Amino acid sequence: MLPFARVSVIGLGLIGSSVARAVRQHMPTVRLTGHDADPTVRATAERLQLCDDIADTAGAAVTDADLVLLCVPVGAMGAAAAEFAADLPADAIVSDVGSSKAGVAAALRAALPDAQIVPAHPVAGTENSGPEAGFASLFHGRWCILTPVEGTNPAAVARVEAFWQALGANVETMTPEHHDLVLAVTSHLPHLIAYTIVGTASDLEQVTCSEVIKYSAGGFRDFTRIAASDPTMWRDVFLANKDAVLEMLQRFSEDLTALQRAIRWGDGDALFDLFTRTRAIRRSIIEQGQDEARPDFGRSHE
Ligand code: NAP
Repeated sequence: MLPFARVSVIGLGLIGSSVARAVRQHMPTVRLTGHDADPTVRATAERLQLCDDIADTAGAAVTDADLVLLCVPVGAMGAAAAEFAADLPADAIVSDVGSSKAGVAAALRAALPDAQIVPAHPVAGTENSGPEAGFASLFHGRWCILTPVEGTNPAAVARVEAFWQALGANVETMTPEHHDLVLAVTSHLPHLIAYTIVGTASDLEQVTCSEVIKYSAGGFRDFTRIAASDPTMWRDVFLANKDAVLEMLQRFSEDLTALQRAIRWGDGDALFDLFTRTRAIRRSIIEQGQDEARPDFGRSHE
């Protein structure tokens, strides 16, 4: 028995179009409706036949939905929800895929005071954006974190959980605040560091830009993948998860200062111990199926 029969996806970029493709693949009898604020994206979605219907307005997209999934940037969630508030069926469940959760949960509650809301975050993505960047297997074997607030109907949470499991994801539940702290370390801080390193390297006057590109295989290019991520999405994530990001950034700065000291004082043991611990973390990620086991991310070296 499928958890939902009529799914509406609002925002048809990387994540929204991946959800649409995955629903088509795993739940082909579901009636899929899509909407995006951008008419060019709607036209692309029509051409790719991502959904059964592409609606010109958010209201028209949700009128008979039993699940409405918001896949817009975190800063646009409240406005996007307000656009369909008057047309939302009373028994529909509203969820989202936003990368930060406490602020999004509050924005959705303010826009939809009477709706059943089960916020979620599929921890899966790429550095690309837009409807053509999506693919059906994006969520296979990845985690999707649900962050229902106290008092949410457990049956609604169970249906959203079953939805993500049907798309191939593993599901975990936690509070929005805990989610935001965990993701600040595992996702938001790494993005900030990548944006910084790539920005610093491109600003260095003594190293020409062509040398930065030419010798990037030394490590730099692995940061450029993350630093190529969508500017709107990441601007919104840092503004929305400000407190947790600043707390993690403070800890990171202290650890960086300790490393600076170890290098200055020639403390090789401190460096060796840290690098040994970090190597073990990479092994655990591979053992838990969260990344490619082949060296160098599986790049071809022929
Ligand atoms: P994306 O490819 O840029 O797609 C977002 C789409 O939403 C764009 O087409 C955008 O149109 C549209 N949109 C913006 N405001 C809207 C509104 N009010 N109503 C309807 N459509 C609207 O972004 P994405 O990577 O799919 O990210 C979507 C969400 O998923 C974000 O909340 C992000 O935090 C989350 N997420 C992303 C990743 C990832 O790796 N990318 C992973 C997990 C979760 P315009 O371009 O015209 O603004």
